Amino acid sequence: MGRTRTVRAAAPKKPRGHPFFCQPRDLGFGLGTLMQTTATLTALLRETLQAPVKVELGRSRTRPVQAKALRPGTFAQAGVALRLHRVFLNAPDEIIVDMGQWLKVGRRARQACARLDAWMHGALEALPPTAPRQVTLRAEGHAHHLEDLQREVIEAEFPDRFALPPREGELPLGDPADSAARLACPSMTWGRASTRKRIRSLRLGSYVSESNLIRIHPHLDRTTVPARFVRYIVFHEHLHALYPSHKDPAGRWVHHTRAFRQREARYPDYEWALRWERDQLFRVLARR
Ligand SMILES: [Zn+2]
Repeated sequence: MGRTRTVRAAAPKKPRGHPFFCQPRDLGFGLGTLMQTTATLTALLRETLQAPVKVELGRSRTRPVQAKALRPGTFAQAGVALRLHRVFLNAPDEIIVDMGQWLKVGRRARQACARLDAWMHGALEALPPTAPRQVTLRAEGHAHHLEDLQREVIEAEFPDRFALPPREGELPLGDPADSAARLACPSMTWGRASTRKRIRSLRLGSYVSESNLIRIHPHLDRTTVPARFVRYIVFHEHLHALYPSHKDPAGRWVHHTRAFRQREARYPDYEWALRWERDQLFRVLARR
């Protein structure tokens, strides 16, 4: 009797290749179950465009699709390098094919573009808001204390506009109803020093309205920069809190409105500060 051969049913083949294509899972991007991988995105686009495609993933919400030809020519001739927001990991195949159509013939692919736009905007809007970057505040510098300068500025220039926190050990004696009408005092911090050695231009201060935060450039934190000058920069940034930037009819941002400029010109040290900046600032900063 010969050996019996057992014929076993072939074990179901394990899907090869990209595990989360076959087995969707949440990778914690806040995207939920994923529909695509970089490889499936690349394959779908390559098939639609009939040209080489490279795909990289990114997080830019303002430019969710960035495309660059791989060499001179149209995308369909030259191939394309794409940087896509990771939200496309969640796009159904049809949307990726639409993107391929758009790459191929541009806005002439009207319906494909409309579907792609609609899907993309919906998907981006559904994402959780980006977490604000954690900032460690440092108001006390080596030469100048920003909170002291802020207090001087507010007491002298805007006593009714900003609610100053009580000094240490001081009771809050102000009328609470009155202080409610005032703006919250911006937080103050020295910015982080850049590692670049040469100083070409400086942004001496900045104001972020979302976090009500004023940053002053750390180069100003030295005894050779007069407190009077730093105080002017602190004053200028408080004006940004009082006179918010807005868009003009042409859609351009106006950061220094007419009202801002007029108020700034009434600052007692205004002329002096402009002169000091013009004549002294870079000389002082060049000396280390
Ligand atoms: Zn400004």
